[in-house]
Amino acid sequence: MNTVSTLPFSISRLPAFNDNYLWLIDDGRRAITVDPGDAKVVKNALIERDLKLDYILTTHHHGDHTGGVSELQAEFGAEVIGPDSTNIPQVTQTVNDGQMIELLGIAFTVITVPGHTLDHIAYFAPASNALGQPLLFCGDTLFAGGCGRVFEGSFAQMRHSLDKLKVLPKDTRIHCAHEYTQANLNFAKVVEPNNPVLTQRIKIVSEQRANNIATVPSLLADELATNPFLRYDKTAVIAAASQRLNKKNLVGDEVFAAIREWKDNF
Ligand SMILES: [Zn+2]
Repeated sequence: MNTVSTLPFSISRLPAFNDNYLWLIDDGRRAITVDPGDAKVVKNALIERDLKLDYILTTHHHGDHTGGVSELQAEFGAEVIGPDSTNIPQVTQTVNDGQMIELLGIAFTVITVPGHTLDHIAYFAPASNALGQPLLFCGDTLFAGGCGRVFEGSFAQMRHSLDKLKVLPKDTRIHCAHEYTQANLNFAKVVEPNNPVLTQRIKIVSEQRANNIATVPSLLADELATNPFLRYDKTAVIAAASQRLNKKNLVGDEVFAAIREWKDNF
């Protein structure tokens, strides 16, 4: 378990499966877990830290995010918060776009972000919280250096969802659910070979990964400067998409779709 922050709550990144990160937020006594795909991983962390699990947050229905929900719910009696989705029947409190929920004294705002799945939501906690810094738990929507595949929604929906995340405070820590950063940035480099901030980020991330250091959470400011899926309106990205499709005058959704399809086949 890697503790990311200790003031006054702890946020822990729990590696699971091949490249998933499950998240645990705790105040030393009680805990919230986000996307517990594997109950055992969360349980081990709870036992190690002598924590009681009060809340389970889910972002979307995929099994690597929900696989441990039933077991944790049964064992700890935790409340399960998530989207109104028939695919996540364990949810005991459904939440909607813009809704604020207070858990362990932390206020989270729910942001609906369909695209990867139709039921996908994200949880944002502003800096005014006890957590002390703005945090986003966004599942498989925004990744460090990339974004989730569009499985259920449309490209336009995904772009709109990412736009909702783009406007969060620039110092927001992006707690996504996978360690995909290096591969994402390798793709970003093909789209924007002349972006100096991207070149620098690739260098840093390469060193981190060579030393088996996690690259998540990332900072929204870094995503805005390097993530092609947040940069579909930038001249260099539009030019790359136009060249890829051999088509001029692409609009935002077309640029975004071209980049996403390109990445799918990268
Ligand atoms: Zn997913």
